[in-house]
Amino acid sequence: MDVSIDSYRDLVGDQVVEDVAEKAAPLSEKHILHINSTYQGGGVAELLSSLVLLMNDLGIDTGWRILHGNSDFFVITKKFHNALQGAGLNLTDRKKKIYERVNENFSKFTHIDHDLVVVHDPQPLPLIHFYEKKQPWLWRLHIDLSHPSKTGRRLFEYMNSFISCYDRMIVSMDAYRQDVNTLQKIIMPSIDPFSNKNKYLRQSEVEKILSKAGIDSDKPIITQVSRFDKFKDPEGVIKVYKNVRKKTDCRLVLIGGMAMDDPESERLYKRILRQYGEDEDIFIYSATNDVLVNALQRQSACVIQKSLREGFALTVSEALWKGTPVVASNVGGIPAQVVDGKNGYLVGPRQYKKCADRIVKILEDEKRASKMGEYGREHVKKNFLMTRQLSDYLDLFNSLLKA
Ligand code: UDP
Repeated sequence: MDVSIDSYRDLVGDQVVEDVAEKAAPLSEKHILHINSTYQGGGVAELLSSLVLLMNDLGIDTGWRILHGNSDFFVITKKFHNALQGAGLNLTDRKKKIYERVNENFSKFTHIDHDLVVVHDPQPLPLIHFYEKKQPWLWRLHIDLSHPSKTGRRLFEYMNSFISCYDRMIVSMDAYRQDVNTLQKIIMPSIDPFSNKNKYLRQSEVEKILSKAGIDSDKPIITQVSRFDKFKDPEGVIKVYKNVRKKTDCRLVLIGGMAMDDPESERLYKRILRQYGEDEDIFIYSATNDVLVNALQRQSACVIQKSLREGFALTVSEALWKGTPVVASNVGGIPAQVVDGKNGYLVGPRQYKKCADRIVKILEDEKRASKMGEYGREHVKKNFLMTRQLSDYLDLFNSLLKA
């Protein structure tokens, strides 16, 4: 994949590209490091794959390292993730010990002499404790912090012993701000229009990809693309689909690759497959297949994102970019992307019937759907392409590294 800032000229215009290049110029001698815990699966890996290459293309020497966890560690950090988004947690000393020890071990074989470090999500957060801090460190949290559980709040207090060592905490939405001493900054994620996931595909290619995956296009398709995670509510999507099917014939595709740092997804995937795998109109797919996701987001009459909690949901911008209307829960980063009635519909996370009704409305009115599609693409073009996110990061790096 050829990633270059110049390819954005035709999409966003010369001025935007020039502005980004101007912001990158003072950073050309700098060495920046991103650290997260997986190179594949989920939104963070998706973002970094493009962002890191673009930063290098702009002349900023930018690296990306992956924390080496073990299965106990990832079970614990997924529990942390869930608690921050509202689930209960038994925060024991054993969990803290494993969490910190994996970070300590990683620090021993990860030498950091960069000018600035960006740490993504809770997994590598404690790393900062194991270095003599010589440069700005930023902690970038990608999850929905608006409704932590009681124990989630306690967990956050514990995490704050690490967060307080950072120069900034970056979150995706204003509603995720916390009462901490560390300065906070909002940066919304964005998508790469040139990746295999989002690049233009001809209709004939779309059909070929879907047929190869065994998905017939003889009926309208509705799709949710998401890791199998309870907060993405895949079982709720099936409930919605059953309501939609009472009114109009269509197929449902649930596609959800596994993220390496998410040990729960396989269990949920298998349970859903056992329960619904026999229904010939429900297609449950688990694999990492970017062009299949691309083809599905293009071919679907409507994309669903029925999350109960949601850090941002790149999947929403991905679908809107392809001119597909999105019916989604009014949670987390979704309302920044879905403008109710304009490029899709927003519903409450437990409003299964309303969700179904909105989908039917789109399926039954092609003209409305196509108008929504046009609006959606423009909305993403203005707000959720990589150039905007890059520009936000560069502003922050410049403010921290100015001589
Ligand atoms: N994704 C994918 N295949 C799947 C499921 C998800 O490629 O089967 C991608 C999806 O297209 C998106 C990312 O994983 O780019 C998920 O990011 P999002 O912000 O929606 O959610 P997260 O997983 O980070 O909670």
